[in-house]
Amino acid sequence: MLPLSEIENDAEVLACATHCPYCSLQCGMHLQPARGSWTVVERNFPTNGGGLCQKGWTAGELLGHPERLRTPLVRDKRSAPLRPATWEEALERVTSSIKRAQEKYGRDGVGVFGGGSLTNEKAYLLGKFARVALQTSQIDYNGRFCMSSAAAASIKAFGLDRGLPFPLADIPRADAILLVGSNLAETMPPVMQYFREQKARGGSLIVADPRATATAAASTLHLQLTPGTDAALANGLLNIAIKEGYLNQEFISTRTRDFDLARRVASSYWPDRVERVTGVPEQQLRLAARLLGQAKTAMILTARGPEQQSHGVSNVLAFINLALALGKAGKPYCGYGCLTGQGNGQGGREHGQKADQLPGYRRLDNREHRAFIANVWGVAEQDLPAPGRSAYEMLNGLGEEGGVRGLLVFGSNVAVSAPRAGHIEKRLDALDFLMVSDFFLSETAERADVVLPAAQWAEEEGTMTNLEGRVILRQRAMSPPEGVRTDLEILASLACRLGFSQFFASEPAQVFDELRRASSGGAADYSGITYERILEEDGVFWPCPGEGHPGTPRLFLERFATADGRARFHPVEFQTPAEEPDHEFPLYLTTGRIGAQYQSGNQTRRIAALMEASPDAFVQIHPSLARTYGIKEGEPVRLTTRRGTASLKAQLTPSIRMDTLFVPFHFSGTSRANLLTNPALDPVSRMPEFKVCAVRIEKGITC
Ligand code: SF4
Repeated sequence: MLPLSEIENDAEVLACATHCPYCSLQCGMHLQPARGSWTVVERNFPTNGGGLCQKGWTAGELLGHPERLRTPLVRDKRSAPLRPATWEEALERVTSSIKRAQEKYGRDGVGVFGGGSLTNEKAYLLGKFARVALQTSQIDYNGRFCMSSAAAASIKAFGLDRGLPFPLADIPRADAILLVGSNLAETMPPVMQYFREQKARGGSLIVADPRATATAAASTLHLQLTPGTDAALANGLLNIAIKEGYLNQEFISTRTRDFDLARRVASSYWPDRVERVTGVPEQQLRLAARLLGQAKTAMILTARGPEQQSHGVSNVLAFINLALALGKAGKPYCGYGCLTGQGNGQGGREHGQKADQLPGYRRLDNREHRAFIANVWGVAEQDLPAPGRSAYEMLNGLGEEGGVRGLLVFGSNVAVSAPRAGHIEKRLDALDFLMVSDFFLSETAERADVVLPAAQWAEEEGTMTNLEGRVILRQRAMSPPEGVRTDLEILASLACRLGFSQFFASEPAQVFDELRRASSGGAADYSGITYERILEEDGVFWPCPGEGHPGTPRLFLERFATADGRARFHPVEFQTPAEEPDHEFPLYLTTGRIGAQYQSGNQTRRIAALMEASPDAFVQIHPSLARTYGIKEGEPVRLTTRRGTASLKAQLTPSIRMDTLFVPFHFSGTSRANLLTNPALDPVSRMPEFKVCAVRIEKGITC
């Protein structure tokens, strides 16, 4: 920890009202110096009402953590260890490597990989840095692994992607909610207050999940479906809704198009067929359809369960079809929503760090959009690159002919979080050059040629956009430790060395002002949002196209964001996952989060209380299945898929299906879940199939 004297004498302590560094709820908190560290204190912010989860309460320990990076590190050659270096040497090394790689391989020889935890300002500047300073098309980010399927489906159906089209405060007013593939009670506990209130008002909560999670335990009805059968479930519910007369014909005819396409497909998903495919009893299917169909107001919410699949977009579209057919969208206390995961999973997908995107949800393949942004940036439209490869496709080609040869990583730990992680490690090692900006030496940073020590959340100002589309301001509570720089400063320094100094500001407020201009008139319009307004109004919901505009907490009340204002049905057939159990790999594997850890664990695995709560990776296995393999609680087991093997401890629980294993993805080394996962990609969103693949389990063997 930082010595108290250093903290208390910090003359630059400006404010201590800030937000949690982790998930998309972005709970409000106060930070206060106490006993040589920073203590998190309750803050009554609208989304969390003062509540935090264990990760939030312990977040202060990240600041001044002894493992914190405080100086740049460089490696003299691949086989040499990382050693401390000056900023001058490290930045020079990065820029000379960029120039060398681009001279040898062309502009696209250098790539950029961003993250869904970066502030809007960083995500914006990172996209601009790639397109203007590097002029590379090769940029994508780890949000591609999170919300991209729901985003693509929402754009297809509604013409716009914003995780929740309504504020969290609307949830209690929904008479029925279908929550698909989300374990909020464990991963985002403060949000459960809204669901508890909804139940207390007499509402019903239906949870669809292959596991009987803490969230399922709080539900009215749990549909324990087979992994990868989400579209069959949604089509089956629509089939029952049609037959039992729950359709809202007026809504369908006045606010939507193409219902007949969806109806035709759903007609063959009769309940007994859907029971066979999903494993959900027909009686439960009928009850779920009735609860949703008879409710005056209802919401359908999806998370990574149905989305992180090779048919993730279709899965989400199938649930959107159901919401539209029931007339439960585009009106108060109704709607389809995606529960965004990462801290800035929403804003991070709006302002240009995605391979095909420009700020404000503009598109790189649209001439008008390119011209608008080129004008804001002061560059020629024809100098902007074309859309590049998606995250996994870029990582898969690292170091290969035609692929990226030098990679700059900001706020991401792909050696743990990318699918087929063992292969991705080899690709990272095949690079001519790898730079990582982070505040801890992550598993990805360990493989880098240059590591730059970056500021943490409470050490710099910046906006985040939470799962509701509410833009919030993370205020700076302290200055970064000596030797540490912000990502904005790093990008501006690199741009300067590459000859583009006039294009890059490094002050968050300046960058945000430019982002506002760049987003003006775009789908995600932030032009009316200022830091001052955010503080006065506890956040502002986009779109907010002018300073006099109140912001938009509820979308689609009058019209959807399509050209004609109507939402679109899409015919969606159920397709099996890319890989199904067989003789060699007889079980399903699914992966996900647990309460005390976050994402790749680069932060939370360094917090003592969180490690005490969840010290090791494990595999959940049903006791009956464990018996057939002779596996006992806590025993070491080996999991094997076509991608690799992982060593884990067995955790016996009747909460999981007999045919399915669950592994959390936060851990490193040989217990990484992503050594096992399948990189089969969704054809539209390019989302890998994290949530389902075929696996074999063996007792008592470690890798
Ligand atoms: Fe809130 Fe998420 Fe932070 Fe927990 S991790 S305190 S739910 S923002």
